[in-house]
Amino acid sequence: MTLEKQLKYDKAYLKMALEWGKLSHCKRKQVGALIVKDRMIISDGFNGTPTGFENCCENEEGATKWEVLHAEANAILKVASSTQSAKDATLYITLSPCRECSKLIHQAGIKRVVYANAYKDPSGLNFLEKAGVELNHLPYE
Ligand SMILES: [Zn+2]
Repeated sequence: MTLEKQLKYDKAYLKMALEWGKLSHCKRKQVGALIVKDRMIISDGFNGTPTGFENCCENEEGATKWEVLHAEANAILKVASSTQSAKDATLYITLSPCRECSKLIHQAGIKRVVYANAYKDPSGLNFLEKAGVELNHLPYE
């Protein structure tokens, strides 16, 4: 694929990830993620509480509950429960991963991360870089 074409696809997938984030019930932050492999979307996710728990992501003080799963974690776990594998896949995400999720991304075999917004704590990105995962920052136009 040419670089120009790749960029076109990257932008389109990122836009879809943004739409996906809107499905999140979280009020503070809505994050969407897609996992693409061989030009097929093999998984998707948004931040939210685990299955069987109430949809509300914030406690009475307005802080995010600790049990909320991040979008990329949900997307990776969805692959884990399918017959697919995230090995050599690309993760599209609206917000760059935190350090906890970065470990999952690397361990799942994801080789490239395309993100729109940079998270305030860069330690996740630093970890991924060290792990040899290709990083692309693609801000929304
Ligand atoms: Zn995270």
